[in-house]
This record gives sequence, C-alpha cells and structure tokens, in this order.
Amino acid sequence: MPSYVNPEKCDGCKALDKTACQYICPNDLMVLDKDKMKAFNRDVSMCWECYNCVKICPTQAIEIRGYADFVPMGAQVTPLRSTDSIMWTVKFRNGMLKRFKFPIRTTPEGQAVPDGGFETKGDLNSLELLGEPASLRLPAVFTLKK
Ligand code: SF4
Ligand code: SF4
Repeated sequence: MPSYVNPEKCDGCKALDKTACQYICPNDLMVLDKDKMKAFNRDVSMCWECYNCVKICPTQAIEIRGYADFVPMGAQVTPLRSTDSIMWTVKFRNGMLKRFKFPIRTTPEGQAVPDGGFETKGDLNSLELLGEPASLRLPAVFTLKK
C-alpha cells in the first residue's frame, strides 16, 4: 500500500523551502499544501513503497502498510532513525507491538570516507571506483574474453 500522510502529525516541516519528504522521494511524489501546511502523496499509483519518506519524516507522520512478505497483512510499520541505528515498530492488527533495532552504519556520523579509501584521483564520478577489484574483494575484475 502506498505512503499516506497523517495530517494530525504533519507540520509541513515548519514551512521550510522544501519539506523532508519532498527532498527524499525518488519519484517526486510528495507535495505540500501550503494553505494547510500538510504534505500528501500526489500519485499513489506511482509510489514504490520504498519507505524513504517514512524514514526521513521528523514527526513520523507518513505511514505505509507493508505487504505480506514484509509484515503480516494489515500491520503498520514505523521506523525511527537515530545517528547509528534504526528502530522499527510493528503494530499488528490485534494491537500487539513489536520493536526491532538494527545498526545502520559502521563509522561514526560525518566520518565516512567518500571513496572508501580507494584511489580515485579526487574524482568520485570516475568509473575507476566502480571497477576496483579490491572493492569487490576480487583479485581482478572479470571481463569477457574476445
Ligand atoms: S516530512 Fe513529514 S512533517 Fe515534513 S512535510 Fe512531509 S509528512 Fe509533513
Ligand atoms: S514510499 Fe518512496 S516512492 Fe512512495 S512517496 Fe515515499 S519516498 Fe516516494
């Protein structure tokens, strides 16, 4: 089921130029009703249910009912991010709550090395990084023989 915004929890990201959900949606689906200062998903048929907007919303106003391969049908799933972990709260149809906490990074916030320590000559867009055998834990990149 696509994302939907609970208007009672949405504060319109306090009138920022661009709301967090607008910033993060890869499909450009979230829009803000500036009169009401409430966001909404403008085309639910295009929603991938990727959970990006759900994870980034600072007020936990966005919800998605997950499919049965993720949680039992009808359950609601709410993520809460911290700097090093994410806590998923699952509310089942019978009201039962379960929480699962997972680490989301291996380096302290703000200290990740953009190129992973591989030589990219300062150009992060270089295709060299893509093919670094060591980054794939391989002695060499496999190529088709001509
Ligand atoms: S990120 Fe959350 S609080 Fe901000 S506009 Fe979107 S739904 Fe509302
Ligand atoms: S779940 Fe993903 S695709 Fe759907 S509105 Fe949120 S960010 Fe966009």
